Amino acid sequence: MKSVVLNAINDLSAEEVTRPTVTTGNSLVKILACGICGTDRHIYKGEYPSTKPVILGHEFGGVIEEVGPGSKFKVGDLVSVDPNIICGECIDCKADRNAFCPSLTALGVNINGGLAEFVLTPDTQIYPVRPDLNPLHLAFIEPLACSIRGMDLGALKGGEKVAVLGGGVIGLLVVQLAKLAGASEIVLVTRQKFRREVALQIGATRVIDPKAESVTDVLSGIDVTFECAGAVETFNQAQRITRRGGSIIILGLTAAGTKVEINPFDLVVNEHRIQGSYLNPLTQSRAAELVGSGKLNLDIMISKVVDLDGVKAILDAEPAEGDIKYIVTLN
Ligand SMILES: [Zn+2]
Ligand SMILES: [Zn+2]
Repeated sequence: MKSVVLNAINDLSAEEVTRPTVTTGNSLVKILACGICGTDRHIYKGEYPSTKPVILGHEFGGVIEEVGPGSKFKVGDLVSVDPNIICGECIDCKADRNAFCPSLTALGVNINGGLAEFVLTPDTQIYPVRPDLNPLHLAFIEPLACSIRGMDLGALKGGEKVAVLGGGVIGLLVVQLAKLAGASEIVLVTRQKFRREVALQIGATRVIDPKAESVTDVLSGIDVTFECAGAVETFNQAQRITRRGGSIIILGLTAAGTKVEINPFDLVVNEHRIQGSYLNPLTQSRAAELVGSGKLNLDIMISKVVDLDGVKAILDAEPAEGDIKYIVTLN
């Protein structure tokens, strides 16, 4: 079968590999769509740890092609896949702290993933979706699950002023989730003009170009700030614009080893809650349901659809100005 294999850092190629054989507890998923994200770029360049060789792709779904003995799934089921595999036995897994499982592995990172015609997928990772779902939308379920985790931690109850710093896929999904949660104001901050235009169409009440306006001069009193850029600048802005007693949810991933400034005095007197949000523990099925509901505008975020042969060119180049989501389709 055709696949995109990372053989070593900066060494990626579309190649033929042996199609996996189904075993008990696993299903063979025929891939229909797989998203490419910033993490794939980090893995490719050696900035995020992975096994090599490995087939990349962790945002995917498709159709069940073959099931193992005793499977609860049927051939032909349309499914999404949670790529993060836990042991289920350790103290963190037993306490529903899945993201902290010391044995955590992931399809597309440590185990062959979704940039292939077929993926051998543990049944525990499979979430059925409605049979008439647009296959391209399968690529949004994993990033949406991560965004829902951030929303859970932000604990919106309705009426809050929300700021979203960063206009990539996660930022734009958070804008839409904040709208559904009843935020009274949703301010999206991003340097990219097209992303600001998209944000206004999907729920932002205001957008700010940080090159044209000083974010900390024009924003204050924010109840919940979502940092979705993974930058020192936005981390610092978040502390300045969030109201006393407000929450700052960090979804953006900075390079390991990055340091930011925190003023402990301000932290105490402002009672800011600065909260990291990691992966998608227990949110994949809600993400699958929400994508299936049609309540999110996902098509507006799709910048380019390519086949497996087009992946290397996308990862070799920097994302083009305004581009949001690249999706690989197979048929
Ligand atoms: Zn991703
Ligand atoms: Zn565990």
